[in-house]
Amino acid sequence: MRYRGRDLGGEGRVHLVMESTLTARDRVGVQDFVLLENYTSEAAFIENLRRRFGENLIYTYIGSVLVSVNPNKDLEIYSKAHMERYRGVSFYEISPHIYAVSDNTYRAMRTERRDQCILISGESGAGKTEVSKKILQYYATTCPVTDHLSTLRDRLLQSNPVLEAFGNAKTLRNDNSSRFGKYMDVQFDFRGAPIGGHILNYLLEKSRVVHQNHGERNFHIFYQLLEGGEQDLLSKLGLERNAQKYQYLVKGCCPRVSSINDKNDWRTVRKALTVIGFHEDEVEDLLNIIASVLHLGNTQFGEGKNGENQITTEPQLKYLSKLLGVDGAALREALTHKKITAKGEEMISPLSFEQAVAARDALAKAVYGRTFTWLVVKINQSLAFKDDVYNSSKGSSSVIGLLDIYGFEVFQHNSFEQFCINYCNEKLQQLFIELTLKSEQEEYEAEGITWEPVKYFDNKIICDLVEGKHKGLISILDEECLRPGEPSDISFLEKLEDTLGGHAHFVTHKLSNGKTRKAVSREEFKLIHYAGEVNYSVNGFLDKNKDLLYRNLKESDMSPLWRFDEALVRHQVKYLGLMENLRVRRAGFAYRRHYETFLQRYKSLCPRTWPNWQGRLADGVATLVQHLGYKPEEYKLGKTKIFIRFPKTLFSTEDSLEA
Ligand code: ATP
Ligand code: MG
Repeated sequence: MRYRGRDLGGEGRVHLVMESTLTARDRVGVQDFVLLENYTSEAAFIENLRRRFGENLIYTYIGSVLVSVNPNKDLEIYSKAHMERYRGVSFYEISPHIYAVSDNTYRAMRTERRDQCILISGESGAGKTEVSKKILQYYATTCPVTDHLSTLRDRLLQSNPVLEAFGNAKTLRNDNSSRFGKYMDVQFDFRGAPIGGHILNYLLEKSRVVHQNHGERNFHIFYQLLEGGEQDLLSKLGLERNAQKYQYLVKGCCPRVSSINDKNDWRTVRKALTVIGFHEDEVEDLLNIIASVLHLGNTQFGEGKNGENQITTEPQLKYLSKLLGVDGAALREALTHKKITAKGEEMISPLSFEQAVAARDALAKAVYGRTFTWLVVKINQSLAFKDDVYNSSKGSSSVIGLLDIYGFEVFQHNSFEQFCINYCNEKLQQLFIELTLKSEQEEYEAEGITWEPVKYFDNKIICDLVEGKHKGLISILDEECLRPGEPSDISFLEKLEDTLGGHAHFVTHKLSNGKTRKAVSREEFKLIHYAGEVNYSVNGFLDKNKDLLYRNLKESDMSPLWRFDEALVRHQVKYLGLMENLRVRRAGFAYRRHYETFLQRYKSLCPRTWPNWQGRLADGVATLVQHLGYKPEEYKLGKTKIFIRFPKTLFSTEDSLEA
């Protein structure tokens, strides 16, 4: 690397613009794909990622979009010294990093006084949750903090281990896979200090509580409690230090995972709960519920003397009644009978063996799901902006939002859970397209900038297929759940075939010529998602959508290798639409501002625009950019805004303007 100084013409300080020499560039690739010579070639794109990855450079830009390749090993790039290096430095002056995005977002929030949002997208295991934690750590370390606020900073950071313990689990794709969606707001005051936070959680994969596929685990918290909980605590909860003893923990056949230390994680979570402000009795309640879910899983049913279905595991019932604080007889009744209302009259009828098992599992899922919601509510109370502690920022706070959802996933067997997760990713991709491809091109058009439109795949057609009113997959599912008669998963599939058959992104085993397609079974439908094709088994769709809990139960009331996996990378480059993104960026303009805002901010850089430009705003802007040395092909003047291809020179002046 070498450094090039640039004299900004008298007013500005001399700033350093980092630029790689040709030889260094050959070795490490380009740090912004926009600089890639062969920018239309997917092979060149991937080769650039590979070179950088070989040099431990996992981050590369496409303009303001950061592309990250999961290193799957700890890199020495997240120290406090690294954070300091990125603080207040312009995007284009230093090598790409999540800290640069974090810092840029923070400064945009402060200078523009507008809320900001960082969207993190990628397949399961891509590194979304890790990166969201790095962003939070960056703000916690670099933002101004007073004594009052250090507690809040600690709580913000400690909310992660708690939410991950209850909402993450080992899957076949990721040992720490998020099984819920999370949108976290961090609120900053007028001085840029974090003063509050709020978490929105989406759709926890509750079915994992009662069933895990082979090679997967239940939510981490169960194993943490059994491995790390003190003996006294386990005795009180009636638990044994052996995950193999619990039916809800044995289905995936992998109680231990080499990359996870449940005992250490238990200590971290216990400490985090205290930092967040959970009282001891609240922690006790929480653990009672976790233990009761395990006891529920071990509750078995069998035939009584008179042929009736009864609970055959008395100790479990005893512990359940004690831990949940529910009368034993009422619990027994609730687990073996259902209360229904027919013609205005309440009736109690016995449950069959299968119904009792289903009711037990429904209760376990509901109890866990509600506990997770309660946990988020409690965390939000502890992160809430407290006026009485600190009220000098009233009315002038801004927010940075972080979206970290579960990534797109395809397994050998996919069901309702994958359908929900993949639909969620479809929506996120739609937002990404809106923000980076669609609105970008629409703005050039609106501003009268000559533009050769870049073609891209718009996944709106798939979103509509899933969520369309009346004719969408979700509407059909809801309707089938409510239909009188005997709706079933198969009748739902038939409805789908009738309504959606022939849609370009929907496939079943039936071919239009009456023959059958082998690649899709009779109990499946296939969706052609933006990120790939997925076969979904309809088994359980209706029940899972209804999330049925009988009324009397309601009343009774989460080793990787250091290598560049080209196939995996190629797949994601394709489906995340990165090549299209690059083409738009390459042909487009990284920077744009309204004439007035631009002149106001940079007029001091040119003697002819300082202190005030008297003529037309557009003429003033043209005078200014020409003075800064921009060639005519490097910028365009639109109807109301200036557009600059690579605004390096401008950003290198930011520090002097701030000073
Ligand atoms: P999911 O959609 O399943 O939740 P995700 O995209 O959130 O997946 P993460 O859990 O963030 O994926 O990452 C998976 C694993 O990859 C991490 O547990 C960690 O071991 C590794 N990893 C991710 N990012 C990094 C990084 N920047 N440095 C080192 N290791 C990383
Ligand atoms: Mg995650």
